[in-house]
Amino acid sequence: MSQSINITAIKAFNDNYIWCIHDNEHAVVVDPGDAVPVQAFLTDRGLQLSEILITHHHYDHTGGIAALKQDYPSIPVIGPENKVIKGLTEHVSEGDKVSVLKQQVSLSILQTPGHTLDHIVFYNSAWLFCGDTLFSAGCGRMFEGTPEVFLTSLDKLSKLPADTQVYCTHEYTLANLKFARYLLPNHASLQEYETWAQQQRAHEQITLPSTIAQQRKINPFLQCHDKQFQADMENKLQQTLANAVDTFAAIRAAKDNF
Ligand SMILES: [Zn+2]
Repeated sequence: MSQSINITAIKAFNDNYIWCIHDNEHAVVVDPGDAVPVQAFLTDRGLQLSEILITHHHYDHTGGIAALKQDYPSIPVIGPENKVIKGLTEHVSEGDKVSVLKQQVSLSILQTPGHTLDHIVFYNSAWLFCGDTLFSAGCGRMFEGTPEVFLTSLDKLSKLPADTQVYCTHEYTLANLKFARYLLPNHASLQEYETWAQQQRAHEQITLPSTIAQQRKINPFLQCHDKQFQADMENKLQQTLANAVDTFAAIRAAKDNF
């Protein structure tokens, strides 16, 4: 892979990040919910858009497709099989691979239903573009899936190589940490990470990407198979939790009401 490839967060709406993979000439964007900041970024850097990648159907991830296609009428727009998403030119599913940025970058696909049923992620040996499935210290809201389905999806991501860089699409880290610290008040790694994240945000710096290793350590939604964590959550939430799925369901519900 070329040394000159960079990944930059383009800010959109209140707290979305549209990730842009680019060299000095071309760019790929992941989940362009709004075309305007993407167009500004491309103009500013003198870049040509080469592909658009989409993880799921929500409007804050897809709303910019139409305007970007006006600028680049023949551009590949690659995403999951879902008729709701207008403008896709290529549907992909688990096991597929896509080659983007003038064949410089190869990405594989996993299906990760839970936040939505159509959700997919793009990954290679270095990067994970996980949409709204995984956030730093949290996970997406369960709009369409079941706890069992969502946990299976998170398990897939947790098994990726430890040094994989994790590019989430929202700046939710501090809010997620507040909840994680409520669940696990004595967790030293969480305290350290929260201090770091607070400093980043105080300086208007982003808290992403994270890594799979870091998420395995600090993300409560990736601890659901751990027997001690299950026991701790039974105590914390005053519920009987028979297994990992129960534990995931209980903490996801607790987060919704936090
Ligand atoms: Zn979403």
